[in-house]
Amino acid sequence: MKFIDEIKRRRTFGIISHPDAGKTTLTEKLLLFGGAIQEAGAVKSNKIKKGATSDFMEIERQRGISVATSVLAFEYKGIKINILDTPGHKDFAEDTFRTLTAVDSVIVVIDVAKGVEEQTEKLVSVCRMRNIPMIVFINKLDREGKDAFELLDEIEQKLGLKVTPLSFPIGMGYDFKGIYNLWENNINLFSGDSRKNIVETIQVSDLASTELDELIGDTAAETLREELELVQGIYPKFDKEAYQSGTLQPAFFGSALNNFGVRELLDCFISIAPTPRPKESDTRIVAPDEKDFTGFVFKIHANMDPKHRDRLAFIKIVSGTFERNVSYLHTRHKKKLKFSSPNAFFAEKKEIVDISYPGDIVGLHDTGNFKIGDTLTTGELLNYKGIPSFSPEHFRYINNADPMKSKQLAKGIDQLMDEGVAQLFTLELNGRKVIGTVGALQYEVIQYRLEHEYGAKCIYENLNVHKACWIQTSDTDSDEFKDFKRVKSKFLAKDKRGQLVFFADSSFSLQMTQQKYPSITFHLTSEF
Ligand code: GDP
Repeated sequence: MKFIDEIKRRRTFGIISHPDAGKTTLTEKLLLFGGAIQEAGAVKSNKIKKGATSDFMEIERQRGISVATSVLAFEYKGIKINILDTPGHKDFAEDTFRTLTAVDSVIVVIDVAKGVEEQTEKLVSVCRMRNIPMIVFINKLDREGKDAFELLDEIEQKLGLKVTPLSFPIGMGYDFKGIYNLWENNINLFSGDSRKNIVETIQVSDLASTELDELIGDTAAETLREELELVQGIYPKFDKEAYQSGTLQPAFFGSALNNFGVRELLDCFISIAPTPRPKESDTRIVAPDEKDFTGFVFKIHANMDPKHRDRLAFIKIVSGTFERNVSYLHTRHKKKLKFSSPNAFFAEKKEIVDISYPGDIVGLHDTGNFKIGDTLTTGELLNYKGIPSFSPEHFRYINNADPMKSKQLAKGIDQLMDEGVAQLFTLELNGRKVIGTVGALQYEVIQYRLEHEYGAKCIYENLNVHKACWIQTSDTDSDEFKDFKRVKSKFLAKDKRGQLVFFADSSFSLQMTQQKYPSITFHLTSEF
C-alpha cells in the first residue's frame, strides 16, 4: 500500500469520560467489532478501586493494566484504529492531558442518568482549547435517565459545545425501544439481548409511513416523529468540516453494555473522524505526509520488572515512517539513536514492528534517554510543542529517610519525574526538593516505587502552597524583577527544566503579588 494511503486509513483517538460512564465497556465493544477480541471482559478496567491508596498490590495491578491498555489497535473495514487509553481518575488527570496531545480526535462518553460530570468538564475543556474534534456518546439508555433534549442542553451549557444529534432514542429505560439513526436513516430495535453483537437494522425511508407505527407502536411513532421534527428545527445540520475544526459535535445515543448503538457510532466515526493531523513544532508546522520521520514522546512507562530498569517510551508518529534499526535524532540530546525492537500495540498484545506510519504509536525500550515531550526526527532540529506541565494541586517536601541510599533516592526521583508521575521543584533559597502532584495518591505511589524499584526510602513533610506559577518577564534586569526576586526569595523554585516558578501560598497572595509586580506574568502552565 502506498504511504499516503496508509496515512489516510488511520484514525487515532481517545475515549474520555468521568469514571463509571462506560469508557471501558465501550472500548471493549469497539474491539469486538474489529474482531480484535473474542469475548466481553477482555479489556481490563484501569479504574482505581475505592480504598486503593493503602493497597500497594492495587498500585501494581494498576500499572500492569495501564501498560496493557495504553494503546489498543484494531482494524475495521480496512481502517486502522488506534485507541489511546486515558485514565478517568482525577489523580491521573495530567496523564490524560498528555495523552490528549497524541490523539487526532476523541469520543466523550456521558452517562444518561448522571449527565455532565466533573472530570468530563475538565477533559472536554482541554479538548476544546485545542480544537480537537469530538463525538459525544450518551450511554446507558437501557436505564432511566434524563430527557434527551434536556441532556443535550446540559451538554451545550456545561461543556461549551455545539451538538447535533446523529441518532435519537426511542423511549428510555424500561420503555427503551431502540434508536433512530439520522446518519443512515434507519431504525435499530432494542432487543435487550446483550449476547447479540450485531443487531439487524431496519431501513426507514419514509417517517410518515404506517410502517413506523407497526414497528414501534402508534404512540412511540408519533412521539418520534415530533421529536425528530424538533431535532431538525433546533440543531444545526451535521457538517464534517465544522466537526473536524472542533466547532460542532455530533451526538449518538446507545447502550455500550448491550452493544447497542455502538456499530452506528463506529461506522460514522470511521467516515468522519480526522486522519492524522499536522502538528506545530517550535520552528514550523509539520504535515503527516512529509517523507522524513518525526514524532514525540507523550508517555513513559517503567518496566514492571524491578530488576530490569528499562522503560517503554510511547512515541506518536507525526510524519514519515518510523523504521526498525534506522538511526533517528533525539533533538534534546542532539544525538542519534537506533531501535532494534520497537513495539506496536494490538488489542491484547504487543509485537516488534518493522515500519510504522503517521498516527501510529510505537513503544521504544529506553534506559533513560527520554523525557515526556522529547522529539525524534530523521535529522531536522525541531521540537514539538504542546505538552505543558500544569500547576500541581498538592505540594510536599521530600526528604531522604536512609542516608546510605541518597544516590538511589536521587536516581529514583529523577526517573519517576521523567515518567511524569509528579513534578519536582528545587527551592532557590536552600536547595530543598519539593514534589508537586495532582492527587494525594501519587505520594504513596512514589514512596512505594522508590522503595521497591530503587531501594530508597523517603519521608514527606507538608508545605503550604496553593499554586505554582511559571514566571515570565521581558526584562530580567529590571529593578522590579530584582525586587520581586529579593522579596519573594523564600517562595521561588526551579522546575525540572530550570524554569523559574513562584509558589503562591494562597490565591489572595498571588493576587497581591500580581498587583505589586505588573511587569511579571504568572502562568499556571509551563508552556506559554
Ligand atoms: P468506565 O469507568 O468509564 O470505564 O466505566 P465502565 O465501562 O467500567 O462501566 C461502569 C459500569 O457501568 C459497569 O458496571 C458497566 O457494566 C456499567 N455500564 C456500562 N455501560 C452500560 C450500559 O449501557 N447500561 C448499563 N445499564 N450499564 C452500563
